[in-house]
Amino acid sequence: MELYESEKLKSVREELIEHAKKHVLYKNVLDTKGNIVFGRGSESAKILFIGEAPGFSENEQGKPFVGRSGKLLEEWVKELGLSKEDYAIINAVPIIPLSEEKKIRPPTPEEIKYFLPLTMKMINKIAPEVIVLLGKSAARAFGKESMRVGEAAEYEGKKIYFIYHPAYYLRNGTKGLGDLANLKKLLEEHKEGKKQTTLEKFS
Ligand code: URA
Repeated sequence: MELYESEKLKSVREELIEHAKKHVLYKNVLDTKGNIVFGRGSESAKILFIGEAPGFSENEQGKPFVGRSGKLLEEWVKELGLSKEDYAIINAVPIIPLSEEKKIRPPTPEEIKYFLPLTMKMINKIAPEVIVLLGKSAARAFGKESMRVGEAAEYEGKKIYFIYHPAYYLRNGTKGLGDLANLKKLLEEHKEGKKQTTLEKFS
């Protein structure tokens, strides 16, 4: 079941929308006739990707990662051998952050913190086994800014994995597939039920 239609996520989705409407960033949605961006993917995802915040395409369509970064993320999904039921995608901030000049900017730590309780509620409802932090903003939400690319760690009984944001690879003209190698291993171990994986193995 898609996140949008999911009964189990209905209340958290409504709460997120109410919470978002109270934030000053919501003006961006109104000014652009855009959308608060919830998430997409499977309600019973084993792997949850967490991005930063919507860009212009996402704001327009109301779905995360539907622009250029999303295309690369879909390549990663293929590389990891994931099916539609296996994964979901959310953002640390569900509203497009814009500068005074109406350009995309990264969300501030305060904006990430404001949405954190709802981010955590979404994670708890989806209950993934592995969380993939896409870039610094997502890592910041978990207090994990010091994680290195390709590193796995534990977060409240879940595995978290850090990789740069797809936009970073696009800027550098690369695909980042090499940085997925440890994640691939981690997912394979999960498939085989070997959940005792130690952190050292991936450092
Ligand atoms: N970048 C993000 O972090 N999230 C999106 O939804 C799109 C681009």
